[in-house]
Amino acid sequence: MKLDSKAMRHLIADDWRVLTAVEMGSKNHEIVPTPLIEKLSRLRGGASGVHRSISNLAKIGLISRVKEAKYDGYRLSYGGLDYLALHTYASRKEVYSVGNRIGVGKESDIMIVADDSGTQRVLKIHRLGRISFRTVKANRDYLKKRQGGSWMYLSRLAAMKEYAFMQALHEEGFPVPNPLAQSRHTIVMSLIDGFPLRQISSIPDPAGLYAELIALLLRLAKHGLIHGDFNEFNIMIKEEKVDSSGAADGESTTTGDHGDSEAVRLVPVIIDFPQMVSMDHQNAEMYFDRDVNCIKRFFERRFQFISTEKGPYFKDAKKSVGKDGARRIDAALEASGFTKKMAKDLEAAIREQNASKGNEGQGDEGSGDDDSEEDEEYEEGSDRGSNPDEEIREQGGLGDPLSEKDKGVEI
Ligand code: ADP
Ligand code: MG
Repeated sequence: MKLDSKAMRHLIADDWRVLTAVEMGSKNHEIVPTPLIEKLSRLRGGASGVHRSISNLAKIGLISRVKEAKYDGYRLSYGGLDYLALHTYASRKEVYSVGNRIGVGKESDIMIVADDSGTQRVLKIHRLGRISFRTVKANRDYLKKRQGGSWMYLSRLAAMKEYAFMQALHEEGFPVPNPLAQSRHTIVMSLIDGFPLRQISSIPDPAGLYAELIALLLRLAKHGLIHGDFNEFNIMIKEEKVDSSGAADGESTTTGDHGDSEAVRLVPVIIDFPQMVSMDHQNAEMYFDRDVNCIKRFFERRFQFISTEKGPYFKDAKKSVGKDGARRIDAALEASGFTKKMAKDLEAAIREQNASKGNEGQGDEGSGDDDSEEDEEYEEGSDRGSNPDEEIREQGGLGDPLSEKDKGVEI
């Protein structure tokens, strides 16, 4: 599903009130009865104004009439929820225009947006429940259970969790995007001027980057966290010029010549946090090992690099939790108002979603191919199928994300 914000500017204040009323009604009603929409929107023009707005909103797909219901009613669509989030950002001056979609993750859309000074940002729209509607096979029960408003609830949880972790990680100085705003099932963050590791065919110093990534995993663990999807799609690599004094931060540098004899350092930035788990999680060891192995496997296949060091091992990482005064970030989520029940609901949904795809969360859209298994998939130039990179290349995105050929659609 693609966000098309063009119709936004044609909506009048009454339409927004009615759309907001449908959203409010959705909290307790799977299908919001028309009289309730009338009551919640409290338009001055009365029922006829409401009906006019309802028909406007339905025409552009923000709400949809549900015919088989016992009563007359409407359901908010993903498009409707997208518009409400954008409307909130616009009124808070956090987003001014919406540009291209640069990525389609397994359960999200990633859009370039801009604030009113033209600074580009990234809008991530969570779309839990999307895959299950597509891969109907073996998914009937899931579909039944999850129909109605709960995709909205789950996508909202994913955005809340991701935002809370991005904030906490950012505060702790982890290399993550800058969290800028959150509304409903979406978040706004800074644009990383780089490429997913997945798109990078060779690097000058695989050992250096590998060590840095493992160090990041261990640093997360020290703060009580496991990423849970630490793979080549969720590690962005940006280039930083190394000034003549060298890398002042003293960390391992991955430098190389880029033709014009300017040394650059490849800096990893971690993204994608809805599935993060605590080091105290009952399956923590499995998640930790999976993250470690993901990196090992990728470095071996892509760069023919195999570390001489064994591990790292969960039991050692576990001992490091909270050491040297490291703040436990896994506790930050509950502090942000995310309840245990919310965490459980979201975890179950993510697990079901991954299972429905038949893999363990490699960032593709569920295309049914045996993507995660095959070696040839990792060979240069053979990345076929519907994966996020394809989308980025097609749109000429990220190659030069800051040269704004498209100013985007004002909202
Ligand atoms: P999903 O949860 O669907 O996997 P991600 O957060 O991993 O979503 O984002 C999907 C893709 O979008 C990433 O692989 C990356 O290419 C791009 N992307 C996401 N966030 C940013 C960002 N802040 N800056 C630049 N690109 C991004
Ligand atoms: Mg991802």
